[in-house]
Amino acid sequence: MPRPKKKSPSLHPDLESVLYTEAQIKKRIRTLAGELKAVYGDGEFTIVSLINGAIMFTADLMREIDNPVRLDCIRISSYGAKTKSVGAPQLIATLTLDIANRHVLIVDDILDTGKTLTLVAGLVRKLGPASLRTCVLLDKTARREVPFEADFVGFKIPDKFVIGYGLDYAERYRNLPCIGVLNPAAAG
Ligand code: 5GP
Ligand code: MG
Repeated sequence: MPRPKKKSPSLHPDLESVLYTEAQIKKRIRTLAGELKAVYGDGEFTIVSLINGAIMFTADLMREIDNPVRLDCIRISSYGAKTKSVGAPQLIATLTLDIANRHVLIVDDILDTGKTLTLVAGLVRKLGPASLRTCVLLDKTARREVPFEADFVGFKIPDKFVIGYGLDYAERYRNLPCIGVLNPAAAG
């Protein structure tokens, strides 16, 4: 059998730069799982993942967790083909699991203006969870419009539009294994 070809280390043409490589993301998620363990112990919790953006992060984070976990997803309106968030986020699809009296961890890809997580946290809180915490892979603190702090943060990043590892631009690039800065030329 021919040996599988090694992936080329060259930069994707639509990336200006790579912020975090696949290996760096993996390493950080492993330590993040340890931070979760320190808080939840061996207890059960329910992950509420904000799709589509958080799909990769959620899948990888869950595999680093040995607690009993339940998973549900929420879909919030996306950016469309834009690189700055506009208007208020809208709920498109809500939870199916009952989260009353459950420990809930909301998982998202990136905390930007804070509007999305404020909306989702408010919605979840109304359903009477035993506890509510939030975990984001990326945090663009400089862009906050609504005060919001996540309980667990993978990486704090500068105010740049990033893609890859679940994050899209006009629904593309979610499948890049790294996180990088979108080349403005590719944004048209
Ligand atoms: P917020 O409501 O905090 O402004 O935005 C959160 C959502 O905006 C994230 O869940 C994500 O979908 C999107 N978002 C914010 N910044 C970026 C970015 O740099 N790249 C991508 N692809 N999406 C972003
Ligand atoms: Mg999102």
